[in-house]
Amino acid sequence: MNNVPKYYKTSLADVENTVKSVKKAAVKTLCFSACGRQVYMFRYGDENVFNRTANLSSALGGKNKCCFADKTSTNYVPTLLLVGCIHGGEFEGTAALLNLINIIESGCDLAGKEFFDLKSLCDKINLLIIPCINPDGRSHIPFDSFVGKSFNDLRYYNQGTWADGTLCGWPECKQKHPIKDYVDYLGGYFNDDGVNLMHDNFFGKKANETEALFQVCEQYVPDFTVLLHGGTNCKNHILGPAYAPLAIKQTVADFEQILKRNCQEKELELYTPNTNFDYGENKNPPVSFNLPSAVTQLCGEPCVTYESNQGLADYQNGVGYNYDEIYNHHLILFKSLIEYLTQK
Ligand SMILES: [Zn+2]
Repeated sequence: MNNVPKYYKTSLADVENTVKSVKKAAVKTLCFSACGRQVYMFRYGDENVFNRTANLSSALGGKNKCCFADKTSTNYVPTLLLVGCIHGGEFEGTAALLNLINIIESGCDLAGKEFFDLKSLCDKINLLIIPCINPDGRSHIPFDSFVGKSFNDLRYYNQGTWADGTLCGWPECKQKHPIKDYVDYLGGYFNDDGVNLMHDNFFGKKANETEALFQVCEQYVPDFTVLLHGGTNCKNHILGPAYAPLAIKQTVADFEQILKRNCQEKELELYTPNTNFDYGENKNPPVSFNLPSAVTQLCGEPCVTYESNQGLADYQNGVGYNYDEIYNHHLILFKSLIEYLTQK
C-alpha cells in the first residue's frame, strides 16, 4: 500500500527533479559521493563579504574574530545552512527541504498550500540548502518513507547487517569505521566507502561529502547550521555541539526555548535537552567529537543536530508521528531559525 502524501518527496530522483525545476536558486554540485553521485546545494540570496585575513584559529589567536569573518557591516545578511539526509535512512528533513525550496520558488509547497509568510521570511536571509548530503546512503533505502514501517526495517536499511546477516544496530554500528568490509548489507548511515559522515576522520583524510560541507561552512560561515536527522520515535529535539564555547551552547539553548514556544503554539511537543550545558565532554570516556562539533570549531558558529520522529509503527519508546506532524515540526524549525537570525 502506498499512502505516502504527494508532498512527501525524499528520493534522489526527487532531488534531481528539483535541481532541474528551480528558477531562483543558484544550484551547485558540491562534490561527488564515494560512488560518484552528485551532492547538490541550493543557494538563495547573496554571499557576504568577510574581508578575511586569517583562518578562525589565527583570528581568535589575534583576538579578533572579524579577521576570519567580519559580520559587522550594515549590509551583512544572516546565513542559514540546512543539511538533509546525513544518514541515508533519515530523510524526514529532505522532504521538508524540498517543500521549502518550492515555497521559496513559488510561495506554495508541493501540496499546493500557500506559505507566503514563510517565503517572505526566507527572502530576508541567505539560505543554503543541501537536501541530501549522503546520496550513497539514501540509495541504500529502497522506499520513500519510514512512516508506518517497523523498527527492524529501520535497523536493517539504515544501519545494515553484519557479514553473518544479523542486524548491526546502534551503537554497535559505530564500532567499525569504515564499516564496509564488516557488513553484508551496507545501511543508509554510510556512504559507499562505509563512512558515517557524523564520525568522519575530521583531522585526517575525509570523505568527499564531509570535505564539501567543511568548505561550504568555511566559505559562507553560516550563522546557524542544522544537520537534519531522524531518531526513531523520539520527541523532536536539538542536540547542540558538545565541543563548543559556552556562548555557542547558550545560543543553542536560547534558540531551543524559542522553538519550544513556537511548537507549543501549534500544539507540537519539543524535547529540550540543551538547558543543561554538560553534554558529557568531561566524562570518561568523553562523548564523541562528531560532525556538529567539527563544523562549530571550523566556522565559530553553532552547528546542531536536529532529531525528528520518523513515524515508526512499532517502536516501544515513543509514539510515531504522522506525515503532517513530521512536516510541520520542520516548517516551524525553519521559520523559527529565520526569525531568530533576522531579529538577532
Ligand atoms: Zn542520524
